[in-house]
Amino acid sequence: IVHSDGTVSFLHAKSFLPVRMLRQSERLRILVTGGAGFVGSHLVDRLMLMGHEVIVMDNFFTGTKTNVQHWIGHPHFDLVRHDVVDPFMIEVNQIYHLACPASPPHYQYNPTKTVKTSVMGTINMLGLAKRTKARFLLTSTSEVYGDPEEHPQKETYWGHVNPIGPRACYDEGKRIAETLTYSYMRQNDVDVRVARIFNTFGPRMSPADGRVVSNFIIQALKGEQLTIYGDGTQTRSFQYVHDLIDGLILLMNKNFTEPVNLGNPEEYSIQEFAEMIRDRVSPDTPIKHLPATMDDPKKRKPDVTRATTYLGWQPAFSVQQGLEETIEWFKEQGLEALI
Ligand code: NAD
Ligand code: UDP
Repeated sequence: IVHSDGTVSFLHAKSFLPVRMLRQSERLRILVTGGAGFVGSHLVDRLMLMGHEVIVMDNFFTGTKTNVQHWIGHPHFDLVRHDVVDPFMIEVNQIYHLACPASPPHYQYNPTKTVKTSVMGTINMLGLAKRTKARFLLTSTSEVYGDPEEHPQKETYWGHVNPIGPRACYDEGKRIAETLTYSYMRQNDVDVRVARIFNTFGPRMSPADGRVVSNFIIQALKGEQLTIYGDGTQTRSFQYVHDLIDGLILLMNKNFTEPVNLGNPEEYSIQEFAEMIRDRVSPDTPIKHLPATMDDPKKRKPDVTRATTYLGWQPAFSVQQGLEETIEWFKEQGLEALI
């Protein structure tokens, strides 16, 4: 800009990734609660690139502005600091309801708040869906199956959850969130979707969140002992985050209202998983065993027949491919940034 006194100032337009130009009638207004978190920020990227208008609502408990900073200032994007426990007024077409701490140290930090977030937060978002007639998707979890007695876990399994243990705030919180979701469907005709997500990893996992993938990668990068809780025979099945995002968007846009497992059925014992990461990052690093955590599920593996049949979805990334990219991402963050 050339001012009247002859001075010049420069406006630096921020450059954004190019987004699809949709016709006004095709462009949806989509609310993503918890959109500044690990999964949420990848979902936001995909919805933005598809050409939709995206509103992120987040209280930044475990998420960060950095995760979505590349969209700040884009005309299709809004970021609102808000706690989902309090009512939120907005007009939208779809709601992806993710807001909830997801790693055991985070959700156990303030268990009462975790329950409030799941219960009151989900009531608020279902109320919003009811008023605006928006389609509502809940990100539930494999934790609704608890320490499963059925293996692999199908959506028809009712679960085996300790209602008073340290994981209950999350597990029971998500179970009641599912109950609320189907109550609003039956009672108020809210159009609902429920994804039961199995362990997911990828870039933007918070280095401090204590989950096994980030812990092992960071420990191996720093040459510190990898910490296995218990004897390491417990199993988990890990999916790469981009597969999950495909599944969430397909589920939202298909006509299927029952819960759907989204996870990669590749199953590893935690001992095998530790050795795999150690061997890729720093083969000389020792592995140590710490006491097991209470109520830690002994095995977990999704049956994804429902997702394959009704969504045409199955994981495209192997765990190895996902790990390569995730390890590279953690390296790019620099060791000082990793706690
Ligand atoms: P995350 O902790 O990175 O993201 C959660 C987001 O919700 C954060 O941005 C956080 O700040 C926000 N949040 C938390 N409480 C809130 C509140 N009261 N009000 C507003 N925002 C709030 O976790 P994630 O891994 O991205 O998980 C996202 C969702 O997926 C969660 O609902 C989680 O239960 C579910 N899920 C994740 C996994 C996984 O392996 N990542 C597995 C099963 C289910
Ligand atoms: N775990 C571990 N070492 C760690 C972190 C986790 O052995 O440093 C184990 C944990 O006990 C569980 C599995 O890894 O058996 C997955 O833990 P995570 O917290 O990632 O997710 P969960 O599936 O328990 O919610």
